[in-house]
Formats: sequence, C-alpha cells, structure tokens
Amino acid sequence: MKKYIGCDLGGTNLRLAIVDVESGQVLKQASLPTLAREGHEAVMQRMAGLILDIIHAAGMDPADIGGIGIGVPGVLDLEKGETLFLPNLPGTWPHVPLRDTIVRLTGLPTWLLNDVRAITNGEWRFGAGRGVDTLAVFAIGTGIGGGLVINNQLHLGMGGTGGELGHTMIDFNGPRCGCGNYGCLEAYASGPAIAAMGIKAVKQGLTTSISALCEYDLNRITPELIATAARQGDEIAAEVYALAGYYVGIAAANVCASLGPKRIIIAGGVAQAGDLLLEPIRRTLRQRVRVMPVEAVEVVTAELGGTAGVIGVACWAASAT
Ligand SMILES: [Zn+2]
Repeated sequence: MKKYIGCDLGGTNLRLAIVDVESGQVLKQASLPTLAREGHEAVMQRMAGLILDIIHAAGMDPADIGGIGIGVPGVLDLEKGETLFLPNLPGTWPHVPLRDTIVRLTGLPTWLLNDVRAITNGEWRFGAGRGVDTLAVFAIGTGIGGGLVINNQLHLGMGGTGGELGHTMIDFNGPRCGCGNYGCLEAYASGPAIAAMGIKAVKQGLTTSISALCEYDLNRITPELIATAARQGDEIAAEVYALAGYYVGIAAANVCASLGPKRIIIAGGVAQAGDLLLEPIRRTLRQRVRVMPVEAVEVVTAELGGTAGVIGVACWAASAT
C-alpha cells in the first residue's frame, strides 16, 4: 500500500505529513511558515518544495506516494481544483488553480478538501468518530468550522460546500457574522465571541476572578483564561461557557433533527474547555430535541488534535484515488 501526503494550508503555517492511510499513523511531518503575504504563487511553490523535501527526508521516492491531499481554509471548487474564497489569507485566492499547480510542480495526483471537512474525515476514520455512520463536527476556534459524515460517507454537498455548521443561524435577527450574514452560530460561540463575553463581564464590573487572572488587561482575556477561572470556581466564567454551550447546543439540536447523528464531536482550541462546554451542549440537546432519541446522541471532544486535518485529507486523497 502506498503512502499519502496530507497538507494543511493554514493562515500561519503549512503543515505536512506522510500518512499510512491504513493505520492512520503519521510517518513523518514537517511545517513551514505560510508567508501568505508573498502571494499565492510563492505559497504554492513553497508547498511543492516542502512536499518533495519531506519525501526525500523520509528516504522515499515520489513513486512511493499515492497522492497528495490539501486541506484548505475556505471555499473551493472541488471539480476544478480551484480555491474560490480563503477569508484568512491575503488576497483571498479567487480562482487559484491550486490542485493543478501542485500536480505540475510535484508530478503527483492531488485533491483538495476544506480544512474542517479534512478534520472531520480524520476524526471519523481514526479519532473520536471511529465506527460511527452519521456524525457532525463543530470545530471552534477563531471561527467555527464544520463537517458531516452521513451514512458512512463524508458529506460534500454542491462543490464541497456542505457542512458549514458555524454559519447555520441560531437567531435570524442576530448580530453580523464574518461571512456577511446575521445571527450565525460563529457570531455567538467562536473563540473571539467567548472572549468578548468575558471582557464584557469585567467591563460591567461584575465580581469575577477573570479580572485578576488577566491582570486587569482586557486584551489578555482568552477562552482558555475564562476556562481556568471557571475551573477555579468562578461563577461568571462558568456562565460564559454555559451560554456558549447553549448556543452550540441550539445549532447541534438543529443538526440532530435534520440528520439524526449518533455523535457530535467538538474540535478546535475551544474544545479544551471540555465539560465546561460539553455539559451545556448535552443539556440543551436534551431540552430542545423532541423528534429523535436524543439521549442516545453522544457529545464528545475530538481525539486527534493538530494532526486530524493532515491525516483526514491524506485519507481523502487515498479514497479518491
Ligand atoms: Zn456566518
């Protein structure tokens, strides 16, 4: 069985791994700064160079590699192999032929996939979603990404655009979201939205240990710091997570009614809050889902951490071969 390369095109770093897609094992990994400000041509050249370097560094030959999968943070045209809109990269990459460029520079067959669909595939195959036929992933960080597996198939939808769970609306009159719409889950429960709830509590003069933990510097308030305060028994901090979990729970309740998932997986940096976030999600599901056996839906944190994306997109390339 040939090995596959998984590549994650991040706003900050290019991450790469050679993956044994039968075991999910990462055989070798490497990363470089993306330096996205240099433009897409330079980034694609750097990516192709890193791909060829890691193959040589592993003592392998390009002929030993079955193909390359690239996880991309944004909207893609999977059929044309183009990027359409990458909100976190300078220039946003409209109609950049990423797939064909990497094929030309490396000589290896290449497939693209949205980065959170890649995480979803990785967690489904080798992580928190193993053995489950229908699941949803909410990846909560700077934004909220999503992914779905439905009836034992990674769900792509039209052109790979299906699964944007962070942009399902939980209040149609809600605040503006980064995507331009109003009332999306992302506007309520992303990392910055959770930090903003903590900042507001301190500004309001509420009695909370968040103030002392951030040393009275509002810029230092992060979801992680609020989680620390909550674990130390701070009620306001616990309320912030209860509210964030309630919001995610409402979006997850809609997913339950739509798809009947067996498992909801919470990924991304904010998932490190663990039960502070997961318990209110579970509670909300029990309260707000009536049309399916919601007590059987498991809400869990992701297992693979930072390697989920590269493993998932390498497996994606292997299954597309
Ligand atoms: Zn949105």
